[in-house]
Amino acid sequence: MALIVHKYGGTSMGSTERIRNVAKRVAKWARAGHQMVVVPSAMSGETNRLLGLAKELAPAKSTDATNRELDMLASTGEQASSALLAIALQAEGMASVSYAGWQVPIRTNSAYTKARIESIDDQKVRADLAAGKVVIVTGFQGVDELGHITTLGRGGSDTSAVAVAAAMKADECLIYTDVDGVYTTDPRVVPEARRLNTVSFEEMLEMASMGSKVLQIRSVEFAGKYKVPLRVLSSFTPWDIDLTEEAQSGTLITFEEDEQMEQAIVSGIAFNRDEAKISVLGVPDKPGIAYQILGAVADANIEVDMIIQNISRDGKTDFSFTVNRNDHARAMDLLKDKIVPALGAQEATGDTKICKVSIVGIGMRSHVGIASKMFRCLSEEGINIQMISTSEIKTSVVIDEKYMELAVRALHKAFDLDIAKV
Ligand code: ASP
Ligand code: MG
Repeated sequence: MALIVHKYGGTSMGSTERIRNVAKRVAKWARAGHQMVVVPSAMSGETNRLLGLAKELAPAKSTDATNRELDMLASTGEQASSALLAIALQAEGMASVSYAGWQVPIRTNSAYTKARIESIDDQKVRADLAAGKVVIVTGFQGVDELGHITTLGRGGSDTSAVAVAAAMKADECLIYTDVDGVYTTDPRVVPEARRLNTVSFEEMLEMASMGSKVLQIRSVEFAGKYKVPLRVLSSFTPWDIDLTEEAQSGTLITFEEDEQMEQAIVSGIAFNRDEAKISVLGVPDKPGIAYQILGAVADANIEVDMIIQNISRDGKTDFSFTVNRNDHARAMDLLKDKIVPALGAQEATGDTKICKVSIVGIGMRSHVGIASKMFRCLSEEGINIQMISTSEIKTSVVIDEKYMELAVRALHKAFDLDIAKV
């Protein structure tokens, strides 16, 4: 008998029919003798619908007071789906109880709309499990010190599930979703993309932060910190497939590099269109310019990702960096109104039509020439690289957005990630 956490995404919970299927699947696991904790998302589209209503009433920038109410509002989506799942389980003859975040409680800080989990009390859940019940823990939400409901940021029920699994020392956390695992890249862009049987936690972390939307990045961080065995798998297989087969499907996130079954140097290609590039031109090249530019940007709560500074000519240099696209307009205003005049720079220019493409693989640690293979591949496609950044297991480039799909396909092929053709 094992203690298992299942998490079901919005699509898997998308209708009463699908909720019934989830209930049947969970009941199958429980009847096989496992203690089951289930963390559901809101029914698909529900969080967007709720937040859309709020936007109609308050289109302006959010305040702390509004954010508190947004959490009151958005958390109801998960509360409804959790209760529905408990009802569906009971209708299947399976004893079940659901708890909102504050009832568990899942304690968080007070950063409304993006709260962080601080602790989870597992007493109630354990007592119910011991009494033979399936316990539903409402995803995406928690409670702060003052008793206010908080939410964990979009996609946050992944993090709820992993955190519950960590707190309860679950044997495994299975993330059921509308794809059947983690792929070498998005199959909608590259039809030849392959599902990975295993991926290392570090690669998953890079892929999540580089744009792969399969898991919320915080959930991967949690899994890494507490070594939670994590598997991503499909909720669209028939609910009554053999349990052993189901338990081995999808993609397992591993912690032991040596256990890697797939010895690829590059495991995946990630991409995103969420960033914009900003350049400050003709900056007098003297100590402190990076601090003056990026310090002011950070003070405005704008996160910076990639950074490059050119060599100077005639005492002037150019300085470029990327920010989230949502912050681009604000960052440009700040530069034009304050930073450029203060530095005596020439001008600031912005470009939102960029994308970031990354190759990710722990094999890059022990192999040289991987980045140059990437650059050669892009040059053969005539794609100009605007910025580069690297880590031990990743190389990212910024290119013109219109070449994104071409770049991803070419790299997928160049690194032998395409499905083997027979
Ligand atoms: N329902 C929330 C969202 O749509 C949380 C989640 O689904 O993980 O972002
Ligand atoms: Mg999700």
